[in-house]
Amino acid sequence: MARIARVVPEVSLDRAFDYDIPDALSAEVTLGAKVRIPFGSREIIGYVVEFPSDPSARKLKPILEVLSKTAFLPPILIELAQWMAQYYCAPLTTALMSVLPKAVRRADATFKQRLWVEPLTATLPEEAIAALKKTPAQRKAWDHLQQNGPGWLADLTEICGPAAWRGLAERNLISIESRTQDRDPFLHTPVSESVPHESNTEQIAALKIISEEIAAEKPRVVLLHGVTGSGKTEVYLKAIAQVLALGKSALVLVPEIALTPQTVEHFRARFIGQKVGVAVLHSHLSSGERHDQWQHIRSGRARIVIGARSAVFAPLDNLGIIVVDEEHEHSYKQEESPHYHARDVAVMRGHLERVTVVLGSATPSLESYHHAKEGKYRLVELLQRVEEVQMPVTHILDIRPAKKGDPPILVAPRLIEAIQTRIDRHEQSIIFLNRRGYASSLQCPQCGYVEMCPNCSVALTFHRRAERLRCHLCDFASGVPHACPQCGFAPYKYAGSGTEKVEHALVDAFPNARIARMDSDNMRGKDAYAKTLGEFAEGKIDLLVGTQMIAKGLHFPRVTCVGVINADLALQIPDFRASERVFQLLMQVSGRSGRGQVRGEVFVQTRVPFHPSIQFARHHDYTGFAEQELDFRRSLHYPPYERFVLVTAKGRNEEKTLYVITQLAKEMERLDLPETEITGPAPAPIARIEERYRFQLFLRTRRIMAVTPKLRPLFMDRAWPDDIRLTIDVDPVNLL
Ligand code: ADP
Ligand code: ZN
Repeated sequence: MARIARVVPEVSLDRAFDYDIPDALSAEVTLGAKVRIPFGSREIIGYVVEFPSDPSARKLKPILEVLSKTAFLPPILIELAQWMAQYYCAPLTTALMSVLPKAVRRADATFKQRLWVEPLTATLPEEAIAALKKTPAQRKAWDHLQQNGPGWLADLTEICGPAAWRGLAERNLISIESRTQDRDPFLHTPVSESVPHESNTEQIAALKIISEEIAAEKPRVVLLHGVTGSGKTEVYLKAIAQVLALGKSALVLVPEIALTPQTVEHFRARFIGQKVGVAVLHSHLSSGERHDQWQHIRSGRARIVIGARSAVFAPLDNLGIIVVDEEHEHSYKQEESPHYHARDVAVMRGHLERVTVVLGSATPSLESYHHAKEGKYRLVELLQRVEEVQMPVTHILDIRPAKKGDPPILVAPRLIEAIQTRIDRHEQSIIFLNRRGYASSLQCPQCGYVEMCPNCSVALTFHRRAERLRCHLCDFASGVPHACPQCGFAPYKYAGSGTEKVEHALVDAFPNARIARMDSDNMRGKDAYAKTLGEFAEGKIDLLVGTQMIAKGLHFPRVTCVGVINADLALQIPDFRASERVFQLLMQVSGRSGRGQVRGEVFVQTRVPFHPSIQFARHHDYTGFAEQELDFRRSLHYPPYERFVLVTAKGRNEEKTLYVITQLAKEMERLDLPETEITGPAPAPIARIEERYRFQLFLRTRRIMAVTPKLRPLFMDRAWPDDIRLTIDVDPVNLL
């Protein structure tokens, strides 16, 4: 029997502390248990993570109380948190806290208890009938209960006052008892059972491979590359059905933006007959709903979990499969400590639990594709759309003005014409308006030229204050040319993309069309989003205009025209993944077109019509794009061939911030990191945000597993000045 428990306290330290387990508590102190402990002069909460055989100190304080009746965190999640703390250089507490949601950790986190009213008899006894004649309010209350069935007292007192109900209870005609009220996010969205589609040949082949991995002793990751509309979801659903039949559970991750009611209903409808319980975890849940969903998962009541990033930590027992849909999505990366990537955590969790992980995408990340090509993952491809639906025809529209001095083209005449045809034919269009990706890039409005770093092939960043163009990967810098180096256009500085102007132009062009706009500004509540999508699905809207919010995963068979207003914006982001992002985006948006019987068309407006990302997307050629891009990444030592670590210092005082990160850089040099190159410090591409100056250090390494443990002590429990914030991001996706 263990005598000592190692406990991680809920304070922001990278340490666990040992406590003595009193005899009286020995049965309750399990791995993952939530306990009350003395800590300095206070008493705080902590979580048991280990049972060491040797104490770390001579005299240990005792655990005071166990606050969780059963093991609170499944041991596997403790292991996952420990790995995450190591790999992402985060304090163990921070890692544990992200595994365990706040809604569950809170001191007052419980199920909601409310008073429930139920009749105790089916018919009124004689004497009660007589008595109720004298109390009409009680009679009314009784009749209501007879007609409408049992209910919550709080709702019933709106029908008759509380005295009437109390009166009925005193006569022993009804019971009023405290009960758990489930805060059910699906309360108002009933679904009816759906039947599986009969799989086509490609789906059968994909399922065969996934089944092999489900049954394998040491399962591998399966990369499911399936073009848009190829029926990936159907493959997930069937794989999950297999896992459920084995008595196991399933975890499905989707990007937050794709976690629409449509998606969730799909899963609920398929499994509602099997009574296995589907839980959701996402950011729109109330704290109470989140608590209840988590507890249902923990208790085994829900055996399928669908959720966004943090759902990778769902406390499912007896896991049988993990699905990561749209695995290439950047929203899987958490932008605060621990800076984890949910796809990579999912792969790790699959490894620890020995379950297969299915990564699905129409445009797999180059990291995953590389693993598949190296044989580390199994690659499965769905290259045809289901039911012989054809891929759309993509037209590239060059919007450079024909002559110098001509006004910029907002919406090309061909696109206007195409939308008009759809309106006439009662088909639908989606116009994709990407916001300016990045505030400090320069593209010549005349010829489309963007100045690139001669060493790194990323767009140079325009630092307005210093009037310099600079590369934040290698620190190359130059002055800003007065005129465009390619075409000589004088007012070279980019004058804004005019997204609002585009919107107005569309409204002006189609005065009689029903147009709806969708972006994060006007779609605050989840209801607004669902409502607009619902109207669009019913055909009440002709033209849907929006940001990336509408690019992902939606399925509307009547959409036959998709327009992209400016494909170049994302190319100007000073990031080595810019080409990949543009390619993915174009493939995703074009995936919205022609999912029904009529072949779709896609119109892409650009000033760089021959850019490889645009050309490969036009031919729906993922493999061609991936091969070329991987060659390029290899030659420049970019991920997936080498790994990046990005260190950022932020502070109000510019000199001090630079000084601190310079010191940090010196200490790093002294660590003698194997096969690692450190560049910087240099100003971040966005050099200042909210009055804070930002400087970066870049590490490139071939030996990430050897490097992060060495870096970790520099960031943990170290006294850097309070007013400078240091962050470390391993495998960063946002380099700004
Ligand atoms: P993806 O996720 O690959 O873009 P979906 O899974 O959304 O594609 O499938 C597109 C549509 O095709 C959905 O409406 C789906 O119900 C339907 N579908 C999937 N598999 C089949 C099949 N084997 N036969 C007929 N329809 C199918
Ligand atoms: Zn460079």
